Amino acid sequence: MSVTKQLLDVFRVDKQLRGLRSRLEAAERFLSTQSTLLADMERQKGILDASLKQLRATISNEEGEGKRLDARMEALREQMNSAKTAKEYNAFLTELNTYKEQRTAAEERALEAMGKAEEADKKVSDINGQFGERQKIVESAKTDRDTKAAEIKDRVAELAAQRAELVKSVPATQMQMLETLIKSRGDEAMSPIEVLDRRAHEGNCSACMMAIPVEAVSALMTGKLVNCPSCRCILFMEEQIFAAEAKKKPAPKKGKAKPSEEEVAKT
Ligand SMILES: [Zn+2]
Repeated sequence: MSVTKQLLDVFRVDKQLRGLRSRLEAAERFLSTQSTLLADMERQKGILDASLKQLRATISNEEGEGKRLDARMEALREQMNSAKTAKEYNAFLTELNTYKEQRTAAEERALEAMGKAEEADKKVSDINGQFGERQKIVESAKTDRDTKAAEIKDRVAELAAQRAELVKSVPATQMQMLETLIKSRGDEAMSPIEVLDRRAHEGNCSACMMAIPVEAVSALMTGKLVNCPSCRCILFMEEQIFAAEAKKKPAPKKGKAKPSEEEVAKT
């Protein structure tokens, strides 16, 4: 068996493996995105909860301060009623005004904190509303990922074993070349040659559509390993041609012959 055929066998099994794994990878990516969104929500909720706690403490402090000032002012008013001199009265009045200002400031701070708390409360309830939905999405993404993993598990193991077995008989250098090409070109690591004229050994690389030199087509027909001169993919001939041509030596070039019936049928 030619190296090209050996590589093609590995390539085809590898393609199936990559196809199966890519479905699982897509499910894993979706799960990961959704989990990140959920974690973000949790983090935001944590920040909002902490800030709400602080705001509520502020409100309670300022309200306490307000009550304390109310009590002081009440006491002052009684003292003012029993003031004996105008000077004493005015001193109480000054003090009262100071308390009034402090009272207003405390009230303003409490109101400001209340406004912020209300905003934070609204955000928390928005997040809570979306949180359940997002949790459901994450759950179903997990199920989907697990289902896909279970579905392909046996087939992947089977193909991986098959691939390992096939790789054993492929020379290491060529195998390395295929691995590198698969990494860079994926499904186009190997491409069939599009035969335009079998007798004239004319063909195109079906990956990049560039013409393949006659010598390269001939080499390919004798079972040699040939890379596309343009895109570097490993070229192969479709199976039926492979089988037929591998037995024969390359047909001698006789210039442009009349196309065979088969070729006429193809055009
Ligand atoms: Zn090419």
